[in-house]
Amino acid sequence: MSGSVRRSRDVPMLVKRAREGDPRAVARLITLVESGDETVPAIAAELAPYTGRARIIGLTGSPGVGKSTTTSELVRALRARGHRVGVLAVDPSSPFSGGAILGDRIRMQDHATDPDVYIRSMSNRGHLGGLAAATPQAVRVLEGAGCEYVLIETVGVGQAEVEIASLADTTLVLLAPGMGDSIQAVKAGILEIADVFVVNKADRDGADATYHDIQNMISLGERAPGEWRPQVVRAIAARGEGIDDIVAAIDKHHRWMAERGELRRRRLARAAAEVEAIALGTLRARMGSLRDGTVLETLAQRVAAGELDPYTAAGEVLDQLNR
Ligand code: GDP
Repeated sequence: MSGSVRRSRDVPMLVKRAREGDPRAVARLITLVESGDETVPAIAAELAPYTGRARIIGLTGSPGVGKSTTTSELVRALRARGHRVGVLAVDPSSPFSGGAILGDRIRMQDHATDPDVYIRSMSNRGHLGGLAAATPQAVRVLEGAGCEYVLIETVGVGQAEVEIASLADTTLVLLAPGMGDSIQAVKAGILEIADVFVVNKADRDGADATYHDIQNMISLGERAPGEWRPQVVRAIAARGEGIDDIVAAIDKHHRWMAERGELRRRRLARAAAEVEAIALGTLRARMGSLRDGTVLETLAQRVAAGELDPYTAAGEVLDQLNR
């Protein structure tokens, strides 16, 4: 990491350049947030006035289901409407970040020369808080750069993916015929996070069965009156077919959220979770430094010797942490 950007006082200039659309400034800011750099709080503060406006769309599904193809087609559709678009391809299992994965993503390269598209992959390499902490900051950077839409693409259906999906206003879960995905979806609790199911590879045998399986599952799910019923859309992303239907389903979900106050509720819940995670992370870091020093050890010795009760000792620890 270059020394010049490490200092907090360079952050305003970097954010200014990102706001002006300089892709290198955007890339640099995402690298800083991804690595949990010491300038992250300053970056977040500088970006705060520009955030909270973009529509955040999550895409998840098993490897090979067609996420990156679909993402690329969605970018095309949103660009056709004149929107500036950011893409975060988040791979919790990959040690690579930056351009490494994207090098393989031929389709994404269709957008490589478009100044109104920012594409970036992020991996778990980086800091302690991991991707779940870094991703919302990266979204902020993209919002700061004027993106009206941010697409977050994540692999698989594990816990990290569910966390990242929870960052989105609308989450798309991609399935493909013959991958046993519809059954897996129930197991992994993915039904709860999906606002829209995309049955991709609809050109393949079994697509109808997958479509009906998922429809049946949705019908069996309990919903209060007026609650969102996940939409199911068929697509052949490789041919750009069904993309308009996906966009229509996203729009429909957005309208439903806006009318019901759900958008505001989701964003508030997200902000609360983020503040809590940062506060806990800070506490944990300070606790670590207490543990390395003599404070905790001294208290522990007194507790072990019966000179002090553990609650009073914990109270002293909290006092120390606040200092
Ligand atoms: P990801 O791993 O989920 O991001 O999946 P990709 O988008 O990389 O797609 C995996 C493979 O499936 C690629 O070879 C795509 O060309 C292909 N693919 C994507 N969409 C379709 C589709 O609708 N039909 C068919 N037959 N293949 C597709």
